[in-house]
Amino acid sequence: MDTTAGKQAGNKETMTVATSVQYLKGVGPARAEVFGKLGVQTVGDLLEYFPRDWVFAPGPIKIAQMQAEEAATIIGLVESVDFQSYRRPPIFEAIVSDETGVCRIVWFNGGYLRNQIRLGQVIVASGKPNVFKHQLQLTNPKFMMVDPQQTAEPDKHFSGGIYPASGRLSSRQIKQIILPVLDHLDELVDEFYDPSVLKENHLIGRKDAFAWIHMPPDEQKLDAAKRRLRYDELFLMQLGLGLRRYRTQHSASATPCLFTDEIDSRIRRRFPFLLTDDQNACIAEIAEDMGRTTPMNRLLQGDVGSGKTVVALYAALLAIAHKTQVAIMAPTEILASQHFLSIERYLKDSQVRRVLITGGLAGKKRDELLARIKQGEMDIVVGTVALLQKDIEFRHLGLVVIDEQHKFGVHQRAELRKDSAPHCLVMTATPIPRTLAMTAFGDLDVSVIKQCPPGRGQVVTRWVDPRNRRQAYEFIRERLRAKKQAYFVYPRISSVEETSKEIAAATDAWQDLSEKVFPEFRVALLHGQMPSAEKQRIMTGFRKGTIDVLVSTVVVEVGVDVPNATIMVIEAADRFGLAQLHQLRGRIGRGESKSYCLLFAETDNEAARSRLEVMAKTNDGFEIAEQDLRIRGPGELFSARQHGLPDLKIANIVDDFDLLVVARRHAFEVVSRDPTLAQPEHRNIRRALLAKFGNSLGLADVA
Ligand code: ADP
Ligand code: MG
Repeated sequence: MDTTAGKQAGNKETMTVATSVQYLKGVGPARAEVFGKLGVQTVGDLLEYFPRDWVFAPGPIKIAQMQAEEAATIIGLVESVDFQSYRRPPIFEAIVSDETGVCRIVWFNGGYLRNQIRLGQVIVASGKPNVFKHQLQLTNPKFMMVDPQQTAEPDKHFSGGIYPASGRLSSRQIKQIILPVLDHLDELVDEFYDPSVLKENHLIGRKDAFAWIHMPPDEQKLDAAKRRLRYDELFLMQLGLGLRRYRTQHSASATPCLFTDEIDSRIRRRFPFLLTDDQNACIAEIAEDMGRTTPMNRLLQGDVGSGKTVVALYAALLAIAHKTQVAIMAPTEILASQHFLSIERYLKDSQVRRVLITGGLAGKKRDELLARIKQGEMDIVVGTVALLQKDIEFRHLGLVVIDEQHKFGVHQRAELRKDSAPHCLVMTATPIPRTLAMTAFGDLDVSVIKQCPPGRGQVVTRWVDPRNRRQAYEFIRERLRAKKQAYFVYPRISSVEETSKEIAAATDAWQDLSEKVFPEFRVALLHGQMPSAEKQRIMTGFRKGTIDVLVSTVVVEVGVDVPNATIMVIEAADRFGLAQLHQLRGRIGRGESKSYCLLFAETDNEAARSRLEVMAKTNDGFEIAEQDLRIRGPGELFSARQHGLPDLKIANIVDDFDLLVVARRHAFEVVSRDPTLAQPEHRNIRRALLAKFGNSLGLADVA
């Protein structure tokens, strides 16, 4: 920054939120650099550098009024000082007095105070008095030396925020830099809302909120300040999401696929069962979306096996009924072919032209196929995200179905929006906690399948001590004899060099299980680095029942549907995350018989133990997701940045959920009334939003 700007900034009249902290009193280039490392560049950043804790020191009282164990601040004249270096620990002692009495103050290891506290000076000290030799004394109090003329508000000095400090900038130094800035709040902080809105939502003014968060007069005002600032943060986030959603909806138009009774019954005839109430409700929501020219942007969530594929297929057939094409994308080839197989089952003898694109497809065959797709001679194209996004052109793409399985994918969604405007349905088997549904996915509509289709056997989950392995094996042998099938899963180890270990572990186990433990059964190995064809062969064998036991790395988690597999053993289960364990377990319990999930683990790790306990306790994916959020904290699951949102500095989407709901409603209401934020009453909000999101929302052209 140039020096003219600096001089202006030093001038009180022109301090703005954009002023660099470098030009504040007590800062300078070196400290500005330290601040930079703390994420603070401007005065605006500094105002949002919130304390991590707060101290309330009481106002000063007379020495005679002090009570044991009651926090007090006193102002006294230093009558004597003494450093007792022979003590262990060494003690620095001062006797101070006012017109009502005398008080002893001691500091352990206080040698350094010899230069600070001198005879005849006035000291302000704040702490909790204790009784020592029948007298009240202060031990290790906070203190400052004052000019006797200037003892006006000493409590202010001790009270206030404790800031997240760095080695080169203490909390106290940060506070000394922030406090003078608070005198400029009139110029620095703009109110966002009408008085009526403030009143309705029980919010204090924004200026007060900034003043009190840094220097709260009391606990109540601090709480009010926190609430206001959290509200604003959540409100701005929701407003950003609301605007993003508005823009996607209005930037392109999709082919409306109107729903008629005739189409509906034609589609339903394809399903050999009645749809569940949840499936019907989701279909109604999807059909309504697809009837509009606004592209659908909907997330379909439901546990594995809850029947999402059927719902997605309904949407696909609705799009095809309107002469448009459908792309169905899955994260892996196994899953893509799984989807294709189940689609085949439902569409047997139908006119719908469908094809599975695989990585192996090449040469002339591939060219011909792509040409047919381009000419609109294919209705449904199934493949991996990678394959379908690369170079496939459609004649008239009406619907994209993306199966995210258990990722919270946002990228695919964004990429798809570039040139065409198909309706978009994202499926996920990861139950998304309510909080995330409103934040990370705040610009998506959400449909949920909660109940599973009828005729599903119970799934019993046990956490097994590996020492009881043999008993467990005998139990499994009985099931296998009854012609049931079993999965044995070995942990994912994510780093590259560990992948081979993971495979080695599964391979060793496979040898052991097939030769020693279950020699009378057919045991096969499956892992991610096998050739595609080999994987397919083994999966088919397991599906057909020619393989009894499938030993695998976690590749099995993606889309295997074998109702006769009723046993799952997860080795070293403590090394899996909760969401992943739940996903894996979703592979069993697909048929009518009772299923068993055995988690082999021995661990003292707190978090791992609570994960295993949660698994043994519940099968409800939503509850598991909420527990996961609780065990891990929102930070790990939800990185705002990763979703193109500004980081949250004071609000927490889990703890402040109630506030989030209110702020969301408010924000979405603003978007619907003033989608360009052009009205004068929204000027301040608009400016704050631009500062937070930058151009990521394309707000610049909102002017
Ligand atoms: P998801 O995609 O959510 O994992 P699927 O759609 O693959 O679930 O359904 C899992 C199994 O349940 C499939 O075998 C499917 O045929 C069956 N299914 C789906 N809906 C119903 C229903 N309403 N009634 C009975 N079975 C159903
Ligand atoms: Mg499925």
